[in-house]
Amino acid sequence: MRYGILSDIHSNLEAYEAVIDTLKKENPDKIVVVGDIVGYGADPKECIRLTRFLTDNITCGNHDWAAVGLMNIKWFNYNARRAVQWTKDILNGSEEEFLKKLNLIFEDENIIAVHGSLDNPQDFNYIFYIEDAIKTFSKMDKRPCFIGHSHSPVFFMRDKERIDVIFDEAIRLEEGKQYIINVGSVGQPRDGDNRAACAVYDVREQLITIKRVEYNIRETQEKILNAGLPEILAYRLSEGR
Ligand code: ZN
Repeated sequence: MRYGILSDIHSNLEAYEAVIDTLKKENPDKIVVVGDIVGYGADPKECIRLTRFLTDNITCGNHDWAAVGLMNIKWFNYNARRAVQWTKDILNGSEEEFLKKLNLIFEDENIIAVHGSLDNPQDFNYIFYIEDAIKTFSKMDKRPCFIGHSHSPVFFMRDKERIDVIFDEAIRLEEGKQYIINVGSVGQPRDGDNRAACAVYDVREQLITIKRVEYNIRETQEKILNAGLPEILAYRLSEGR
């Protein structure tokens, strides 16, 4: 059994298509989308359409909720708020319904997935540090937990009382340990690498790999600028910040 897992698409169609092409070559049995399909970029409608076509295994992100009025955006920064408003204005009823119906958590026999964290998933807490990770580890069993939200790929590994933060490209899961995997962001990476990110989990091999995928950043940037979205949302894509 192989999973393709991706998160934080943020209406970036070019990155999304490039990631899907890469994942297809991996022959995944299941694709899981861990939230934030929309927000920031210029192609929310296309990214929703593509997601509906791709999989039923989807969790919602804070931007998905914000775009349909389910989330108070007072904590969003100015540019994020403008993008939320812009997105809200162009979604149709069926797209809104789709976003509203997304679950907070996805789970099956092998994995669990949530956009932010397992403690109060509706609050979309970030897992940046070990202290944040502990709260999610305490709600997990032996299945690995896949997350997004921070837009930076990273592994957290718990071995009894010890937690390690690992920035490797791949990790082989060991018996008796717990893992939280941030799969990074498709549409707005923030770890200094401007390539789109996604993860592949091979259950039989117990191997999780973070993939990075080049895409046509310039085309995405032009669309964002032409849409009248904040310019910074275009420029930051080249930096991966
Ligand atoms: Zn996001």
